[in-house]
Amino acid sequence: MTTFADSTTTAEDLIALDERWSTHNYHPLPVVIAEAEGAWVTDVAGRRYLDFLAGYSALNFGHRHPALVDAAVAQLGRVTLTSRAFHHDQLGHFCRELAELTGTEMVLPMNSGAEAVESVIKVARKWAHRVKGVPDGTAEIVVAGSNFHGRTTTIVSFSTDQTARADFGPFTPGFRIVEYGDAAALAAAITERTAAVLLEPIQGEAGVLVPADGYLAEARRLCDEAGVLLIADEIQSGLARTGTLFALDHERVRADLYTLGKALGGGILPVSAVVGRADVLGVLRPGEHGSTFGGNPLACAVGRAVIRLLETGEFQQRSSSLGAHLHARLAELVGRGVTAVRGRGLWAGVDIAPEGPTGRAASLALAERGVLCKETHDHTLRIAPPLVITQDELDRGVDALTEVVRG
Ligand SMILES: *Cc1c(COP(=O)(O)O)cnc(C)c1O
Repeated sequence: MTTFADSTTTAEDLIALDERWSTHNYHPLPVVIAEAEGAWVTDVAGRRYLDFLAGYSALNFGHRHPALVDAAVAQLGRVTLTSRAFHHDQLGHFCRELAELTGTEMVLPMNSGAEAVESVIKVARKWAHRVKGVPDGTAEIVVAGSNFHGRTTTIVSFSTDQTARADFGPFTPGFRIVEYGDAAALAAAITERTAAVLLEPIQGEAGVLVPADGYLAEARRLCDEAGVLLIADEIQSGLARTGTLFALDHERVRADLYTLGKALGGGILPVSAVVGRADVLGVLRPGEHGSTFGGNPLACAVGRAVIRLLETGEFQQRSSSLGAHLHARLAELVGRGVTAVRGRGLWAGVDIAPEGPTGRAASLALAERGVLCKETHDHTLRIAPPLVITQDELDRGVDALTEVVRG
């Protein structure tokens, strides 16, 4: 059978096809990818590009990592979906291995990152009402300004990004927003009704904002003092991106609950989870929460292969050593077309000087030079290459960036 799509092969036609039939909730670069391997993607005309975005960290292990593809293919030949109406032979292994990897006690498997965040909100509220003794329906969660936790109506209820919120109300109550990085504001926002403090240890979408040393440890201390849960959203910052398993590890801080996603699915399929304390996740009873696809056999098999890669420590190590090289090179650009660079490991936010190109223009110019990344806000580029990238490849990308920001 020949369809319109099958007979349409030029980039121009394929972009027109997308624009005609898919909703316009993204503004992609005009690159049409047909294949990918490791740190490289190939477009429909056969042109290769270095991937400097890695699917916002969903591709930490690169495109089609052989161990992950093998695990997926093997599971496709066995069983892919059972629903949680029955047990299957992957779920318990996945949950135990993820708990052991993360040093936690219990796992709630879901699919998307937003679902993990929604799940942790429900768990924290129920814990506050049933365990902490907060009157039912009054629990509050303290969050940070400039956060990004996903796109559901409840999650955008506590976003400070007007584009993400406008026209989508009415919003879910029960959240208090304080400035990110301000421990005194956090302390002032915690009350007897506070169930949890929910933070990204590094804010990716906001431009890879790293809070001042001691902020996260102080958040931990404030939560302990007030009997409040500390929840770390490590969907983007976790799973080796910053050179450690969790970004929180740099501060030697432990959260009560973590949300994981993105790289947990190995770039193959959506896999997310909440991991943490058994006495908190244990508040959920049958029928109170769930997902048809959450914890399915295929997701668990791929997730287990991801866990095996992370257990070696190789990717954490690569991010740490290559990240030091990346940041040393980016630091040289400050004052030369760049006003500031932030980040940790193979993860950087690069603020382009106001007289230089916009983030969008810089992304387009980089694509012309065979490097794919994406702006966040008007003048910031977010760099997050797959952790399988080599130092030579990294240098190629930074060379292109140097040309682009210097104009
Ligand atoms: C991407 C992301 C999410 C949402 O994940 P989705 O899979 O897109 O729903 C939540 N929190 C953080 C920190 C993220 O980076």
